[in-house]
Amino acid sequence: MTQPRSAPMPAALRAGRTAPHPARAIRCTHCGAAEGARCTTRSGRITKTKPCPARLTAHAIAVAVCPTCQVLPGTECRTPDGRQHDIHPARLTEAEGTAA
Ligand SMILES: [Zn+2]
Ligand SMILES: [Zn+2]
Repeated sequence: MTQPRSAPMPAALRAGRTAPHPARAIRCTHCGAAEGARCTTRSGRITKTKPCPARLTAHAIAVAVCPTCQVLPGTECRTPDGRQHDIHPARLTEAEGTAA
């Protein structure tokens, strides 16, 4: 009897579902979740695993260099129209992989 060769478990994927999101390292200015805590809805319920967009943005600004406009961590994105609460999507992606 030969054992079928089993593919390795996608551990990274599974861990990704339970590991705290890196954006949780900072306080959420949108819903007020403390550092390390999950974001909540207005009614106080724990939401999805994904933090509020505002928190993701703030975290990305704090930790990631923007691949698009090259600003350093702590600096908001330079956007042509001057809107600063929108950051380049690539920066969010960059921050997701950055453990703070
Ligand atoms: Zn939040
Ligand atoms: Zn940018």
